[in-house]
Amino acid sequence: MTMQQTPLLMSRILGRGARLDPNEEIVTLLENGTHRQTLQITWERANQLAGALHEHNIRTGDRVASFMWNNYRHLELYQAVTSMGSVLHPLNIRLSPVDLEYIINHAQDRIIFADEDLLPLLIPFLDKIPSVELLVICRQEDNSETSFEHTSFKNTQIQTMDYEDFIVGKPTEYSWPEIDENSPMGLCYTSGTTGKPKGVMYTNRSTYLHTVTQAMTDSMNLSSLDSVCGIVPMFHAMGWGLPFTASMLGCKQVMPHRFMDPARLVKLMAEEEVSISAGVPTIWQGVKSFIEENPDKFDLSRLTRLTCGGAAPPVAMMRWYWDTLGIEMIQGWGMTETNPLGTLSRKVAKRSHMHLTEDQQFENIAKAGLLMPGLEIEIFDENWSPLPHDGESVGELLIRGPWICSEYFNDPQPEKFHGDWLITGDVAKIDQEEYVIIADRSKDLIKSGGEWISSVDLENHIMSLEGVRQAAVVAQPHPKWDERPVALVIPAKDSRINEELILKHCVQMFARWQLPDEIIFVDEIPLTSTGKIDKKTIRSDLQARHYKLPDLRAI
Ligand code: ADP
Repeated sequence: MTMQQTPLLMSRILGRGARLDPNEEIVTLLENGTHRQTLQITWERANQLAGALHEHNIRTGDRVASFMWNNYRHLELYQAVTSMGSVLHPLNIRLSPVDLEYIINHAQDRIIFADEDLLPLLIPFLDKIPSVELLVICRQEDNSETSFEHTSFKNTQIQTMDYEDFIVGKPTEYSWPEIDENSPMGLCYTSGTTGKPKGVMYTNRSTYLHTVTQAMTDSMNLSSLDSVCGIVPMFHAMGWGLPFTASMLGCKQVMPHRFMDPARLVKLMAEEEVSISAGVPTIWQGVKSFIEENPDKFDLSRLTRLTCGGAAPPVAMMRWYWDTLGIEMIQGWGMTETNPLGTLSRKVAKRSHMHLTEDQQFENIAKAGLLMPGLEIEIFDENWSPLPHDGESVGELLIRGPWICSEYFNDPQPEKFHGDWLITGDVAKIDQEEYVIIADRSKDLIKSGGEWISSVDLENHIMSLEGVRQAAVVAQPHPKWDERPVALVIPAKDSRINEELILKHCVQMFARWQLPDEIIFVDEIPLTSTGKIDKKTIRSDLQARHYKLPDLRAI
């Protein structure tokens, strides 16, 4: 052996930023003002937290859950729990009590750290999660809201403790264990849009490699000079890995806590000189509407990059950010099973693209992107034969590599894998330039008369029309064609949009048989627990109100 076998452990990278730039800040938005602490204090508190957890008998591999917003204490958990060899399990606060109870029991969480204002969501099932011994409560930092009364869960077996009392007096240096790099460090569950939630157990090695690769200029283009604002919740797919990468680099981190409305987000980003942020398309759609209604109110001149993923962002929106504010939207594709990043798309992603016209560059950002180094991706037909990368062939998208899940936690589900490939559940094309183009989730594709219609393409095209705020396209059953598309549309404020205008706009891009059979104007479109358009709920709502396609109503 010629080279050292240093294990790839989170403890080796997470304290780096604090060491290099100790006085840089972690800023958390509060009801009135902000909470601020340095990188050094944050890392010291993470060391104290690890000491406290060790005293509570938390050992390698034990699951420690969080039920929290994006804030400095959640970051301390990200640093401490993963570095000490135990497993951080962020719980998605937007899941139903039934799913949460299932997930906590399945994960066998031993401790839950919860933000005080979220306790009412936990209380209904506290007596049904016997593995949990301790609930550590993170109190509101500002006294804007009355403290929560803890009496209501006195009769469970679970002890409670205040976060600050839990860590107080512990040494600010913890001796991180030398463990196997394949030991687990994080557990995330998919949001259960199809069946029971499934757990994905990340390892030190997988997340270490993901963290380092994420920072590359050709990936998310993060640097120690950045002020990073992760809007994607830290309870969703490890906040897309940003808390780890920013801790390693020594970025300023700006955390929105529970204040997720566009007005406060924009103000926060302006005041804290945020240079890069990340969130799902519905967030950026809301921020765009706010800026349009309040032009020039806030100075966003430091903001140069917005990472957008989790669902396909409309090109019109990406173009708007660039043309209006000079902000580059970086599209990312990934899933909980991929740690979570798989592909990324930048405005100019290759040297040979430097001379492309702006229109051509936007054609490229509209794609899910180029594969991160170290991963392999392929499209397959129904006989598992690989399809050509010609930008035309559409197949099941499969992926493999060092940060791709190889089985589900305590429930392997071999049918979700093909050999060592993960079956993503997406259908896609790969073009000659190796760009991945997601056509749809296989369950959302619309099958009309034996031909496929991409719901994503249709809704993104509808959203490029002025006067449309949000659109969602779903399949509805049809006796002759199997399925036909219908569109739900939220009009923008004061817009005069109507069905005729939308169909006229669609016909520029789509064949007539691909147009929605009806445009239904609505005030709201349901979103999933991760802020994506919830097509399953839309379909079941239509069914519940006995929706019939226009040409079936007379029958
Ligand atoms: P869930 O939404 O089920 O909780 P994830 O958050 O892991 O799970 O979502 C992963 C899925 O999100 C992908 O399989 C894909 O369908 C969709 N997705 C993520 N990023 C993109 C993107 N840039 N374009 C299109 N679809 C995307």
